[in-house]
Amino acid sequence: MIDKELLKILVCPICRSELQVIENPNENYKLKCINTDCGCVYPIENDIPIMLADKAERPCPKCATQRDWNEEKGNLYCTKCNA
Ligand SMILES: [Zn+2]
Ligand SMILES: [Zn+2]
Repeated sequence: MIDKELLKILVCPICRSELQVIENPNENYKLKCINTDCGCVYPIENDIPIMLADKAERPCPKCATQRDWNEEKGNLYCTKCNA
């Protein structure tokens, strides 16, 4: 289980929003960004959150396709929605 104190100081590396723990009985816990426009999901490996945009699940809020992450521009792009 992830440390609650650690969770308090972590923010989404993409949009700087807070994160919530996603508990899944068949998988490791994950951290999900609470910003619905972002909604990126970060894996937790051996109780260590992997807070990297390029390792995240980045589902498009409209179509759920994995969005591209442009590190230089710091933005997310859905090739399906062209947005
Ligand atoms: Zn975010
Ligand atoms: Zn989309």
